[in-house]
Amino acid sequence: MNEWVEKDLKYIWHPCSQMKDYETLSPIVIERGEGIYLFDTEGNRYVDVISSWWCNLLGHCNPKINAAVKKQIDSLEHVIFANFTHKPAITLCEKLSKILPVGLCKFNFTDNGSSAIEAAMKVSFQYHAQTGNPQKTKFMALSDAYHGETIGALSAGDCDLYTKLYKPILMDIIRIKGPDCFRCPYGKTRENCNCECFEDAEKQFEKYGEETAAILVEPMLQGSAGMKIYPALYLKKLRRICDKYNVHLLADEIATGFGRTGKMFAFDHAGVSPDIMCLSKGLTGGYMPCAMFVTTQKIYDAFYSDYNEGKSFMHSHTYSGNPLACAAANAVLDILSDGSVLKQAQENAIYFNKIIKEKFLPHKNAGEVRSIGLINAIELVKDKTTKEPLDGKLRTGYQIYKKALKKGVILRPLGDVIYFNPPLIIEKKDMDFVTDTALECLKEVLPE
Ligand SMILES: *Cc1c(COP(=O)(O)O)cnc(C)c1O
Repeated sequence: MNEWVEKDLKYIWHPCSQMKDYETLSPIVIERGEGIYLFDTEGNRYVDVISSWWCNLLGHCNPKINAAVKKQIDSLEHVIFANFTHKPAITLCEKLSKILPVGLCKFNFTDNGSSAIEAAMKVSFQYHAQTGNPQKTKFMALSDAYHGETIGALSAGDCDLYTKLYKPILMDIIRIKGPDCFRCPYGKTRENCNCECFEDAEKQFEKYGEETAAILVEPMLQGSAGMKIYPALYLKKLRRICDKYNVHLLADEIATGFGRTGKMFAFDHAGVSPDIMCLSKGLTGGYMPCAMFVTTQKIYDAFYSDYNEGKSFMHSHTYSGNPLACAAANAVLDILSDGSVLKQAQENAIYFNKIIKEKFLPHKNAGEVRSIGLINAIELVKDKTTKEPLDGKLRTGYQIYKKALKKGVILRPLGDVIYFNPPLIIEKKDMDFVTDTALECLKEVLPE
């Protein structure tokens, strides 16, 4: 154990970890990053095929983003964002307004995804209270949802691993049984369904629509649930029913934004706009904490009045609109602006999915390979025909993770779902390497 590992374990309580696991798998001390690679202090190389928790969009130490942040730091590192503003934030919002789904035009900054969700929930509630609907105090969200880990965002979520323990201190959320395409209870597939599963949403809206402020949704892809992918039709149906009941459609694009699903935003697959959208993660290319909710003129206008009417949105985070973060985000959007990165990623996505299907589907425990954009997931099961899950206590995904680390690939499966969510710039040779390595590890842990 080197001295840095020793000191790390002395002081640091790592996120989303059982610290006792670090007895057998020490923290890896990363010294530098370059493109999709990370290098540790011992000189080992790792392919960051999960984009460092899905946020690194264009590679580590991207020269253009580095330069933009360096330039910004020499003129302004931070300034209070109430009553003060700065060019990087203004430029960023102007650029975003041109690429976001139509209608989204007012930007409110926070500094992490969960906070953006919380702020968006508050704004939705307040909008309804100020437009004659104070009875709209509830929120709806889908089964298996993930919206972050602060109390409000955690309440909206439905992944047992994160929420179960905290139920006694969470808000009541109206839970809609969402799409479950791999184990579709209607016996349909993503390609041939009419979103029959939407019937539960209809039921809940009928019952609770009048008292609901907003429904939160991860469009197209429920990431933390195990990269569950569902058809765009579901979002179109949501748009219609939200209009009918005057419920805000609140899009959590924190994981899906900026080309992750093959389009700039996941809502672009559906061709409809949400009323509120939350962004973070890829926004700064994984450089700086930055998040925002974006909303319509209509919602904004309900807050615009004389101060003494008390209609302002009195919500703030100290680091809102941080100029360094905005500078990084501007550089990201500049890199994406001519469309070539997305185009290349879309082409590569076809190749990536093809080799993953070829390599993994023959394995006896590969229940499904699903993909959207460059995101690919392999759901491991005990039995392919019944789709019975593996015994979670065996921690199969974790065993595979540990083996892959030794071979230079960062996988970090979600339970027993192995997935790839690489930076958009990944090249074919790396796709070959990470899939070969992951398959090798899978076969070591679950021999045929
Ligand atoms: C990561 C994530 C969040 C939470 O963002 P944090 O910055 O980790 O608080 C919320 N929703 C989705 C879909 C996410 O992937």
